Amino acid sequence: MKILQFNESLCIGCHNCEETCSKVYFKTEDISKARLRITEKVDDFNRFKGCNQCGDCIDVCPEGAIYRMKNGAVTVDKKICVGCMMCVAFCSDFHYHDDYVEPYKCLSCGACSRSCPTGALTMKVEG
Ligand code: SF4
Ligand code: SF4
Repeated sequence: MKILQFNESLCIGCHNCEETCSKVYFKTEDISKARLRITEKVDDFNRFKGCNQCGDCIDVCPEGAIYRMKNGAVTVDKKICVGCMMCVAFCSDFHYHDDYVEPYKCLSCGACSRSCPTGALTMKVEG
């Protein structure tokens, strides 16, 4: 399984990663729709929020809508999800937007890391 790795010392805060993620999944460069987040600086470094695909959220969903895909990434089945937001309350790596009923999360596709100009984001094989 691949998960995102973030090197804070290399991040320049350009937000290319979030724009790319939004474009890949929602066909718009709106960083409020990204499945990962580069947040405000703390102690001079940008902070990263992204899913490590641990799967602890799977048992939280009362509808059984969260599952692990064959590639190891954890996702939400939009056909089953009722938008109760229990997963969002459970883990801050779930995101949501007024344009959509269902929350969403990083799927470890790596598009963000390919758009990062500094190598701050990379994909690492784990497990
Ligand atoms: S919002 Fe959807 S995926 Fe999340 S806990 Fe509720 S039903 Fe499950
Ligand atoms: S694309 Fe790379 S350098 Fe730019 S904000 Fe994202 S992680 Fe930081």
